[in-house]
Amino acid sequence: MELNQLTIHELQEKIRSGKTTATEIVQSVFRRIDAVEKAIHAYILLTREAALAEADRADEAIRKGDIRTLTGIPVALKDLLCTRGVTTTCASRILHDFVPPYDATVVEKLRDAGAVFTGKTNMDEFAMGSSTETSWFGITRNPWDLERIPGGSSGGSAAAVAADACIAAIGSDTGGSIRQPAALCGVVGMKPTYGRVSRYGLVAFASSLDQIGPFTKDVEDCAILMNVIAGYDPRESTSVPAEVPDYRQYLARGIDGWTVGIPKEYFIEGIDPEVMTAVRKAIAVVEGLGARCIEISLPHTAYCLAVYYIVAPAEASSNLARYDGAKYGFRAPDSRGLLDMYKKSRSAGFGAEVKRRIMLGTYVLSSGYYDAYYKKASQVRALIKRDFDEAFQRCDVILTPTTPTPAFRIGEKTDDPLHMYLSDIFTISTNLAGIPGISVPCGFTQGGLPIGVQFLTGHFEEAKLIQIAATYEKNANLEKRRPTL
Ligand code: GLN
Repeated sequence: MELNQLTIHELQEKIRSGKTTATEIVQSVFRRIDAVEKAIHAYILLTREAALAEADRADEAIRKGDIRTLTGIPVALKDLLCTRGVTTTCASRILHDFVPPYDATVVEKLRDAGAVFTGKTNMDEFAMGSSTETSWFGITRNPWDLERIPGGSSGGSAAAVAADACIAAIGSDTGGSIRQPAALCGVVGMKPTYGRVSRYGLVAFASSLDQIGPFTKDVEDCAILMNVIAGYDPRESTSVPAEVPDYRQYLARGIDGWTVGIPKEYFIEGIDPEVMTAVRKAIAVVEGLGARCIEISLPHTAYCLAVYYIVAPAEASSNLARYDGAKYGFRAPDSRGLLDMYKKSRSAGFGAEVKRRIMLGTYVLSSGYYDAYYKKASQVRALIKRDFDEAFQRCDVILTPTTPTPAFRIGEKTDDPLHMYLSDIFTISTNLAGIPGISVPCGFTQGGLPIGVQFLTGHFEEAKLIQIAATYEKNANLEKRRPTL
């Protein structure tokens, strides 16, 4: 096995016992990137030189006995996390040359833990999308089938982990952008509780929904990364000073005696039959491990998509007002006066999907429509959250499919935004309620495409997700496969 194919915990062991060096690991990852990047295009930017220098420093630290959690571990960052001195584009023309003067808190924490950064991963423009097809820098392809999308918006992060073109990656999830691509690329992805991981330095899409989280090759690595990135940040006003447990302590505890809720609204017509079969099998595995599975109801599920596509664009229209050609990134040449510059810069700087969201958001916030749309949506959002609060009175964890279908073909949904929006039908409610969720691989289709199962739980109970996901992963007896690239 090559070093780039290993997990964080396997590499930690090799580094601690002196069997390998940070430099060897980083070189191995970049060899893989050189081999597959042309085919998948997971990265917008590779920071090879800096990575080799960081690896060198890591080896120096190792020699001195300063070995931290992520010393020498190559990690990829979604290109909406501010990185000091390194372009942060959000996959948009309007930020194509934006170089932040500071690091996001998450980046700082990873760096302090010893991580080596491989580069910035591709995504849908401003994280608006489910397929990584709206990037100004071109599409990313699914390592399991190059004719298919990797999911989105964090498609580059998911594809890079799946293709062993990094050891782990960071993404963001506003309506499913970590869990959906994780499911479609066959890796583990977690969206933490709103407030658990600092959003300082995360370029905002919809501020009341955005969360940062890890993409990893297994659940243990997810626990390791959560240990590093979670926690209170005084620089971020919605960051919550809740205690962060050592998530690794929950890997081997089992789920005997747990109650797992199966929401009937998530097992509906229209789900791909192979996804249904794989998720039903996952339910059987969980039952075999001593959990009791009960049917529950989340009665406002049918409204989630509608509520999300009012709240998220509303917040986006306001967040994206700052890109006007004056302060950041792209400015249209040849404009006559300030208004003309705004108009031309925004017209040429944003892509079609971002413009659609800005228009939708501006509309639902405008006077005369605010009460009918934004206010109503906010009220229904409270009911959606209440559904979950009530459900968690009856069960420890909720189990659902992560996505209704496996990875779809490139171009299949680009002309039909509503169809595209349906890709997140099972992940969006989590963000509206602010609760944490994880997607774990649960099998493959006949055609060899990965399928994911999603676990959800109450606010700040990520440890429970680690516990059930790790127990499931260990006992599911899934065939170990790698994409053939
Ligand atoms: N696909 C959803 C959207 O387009 C969610 C995106 C996300 O989680 N960033 O808004």
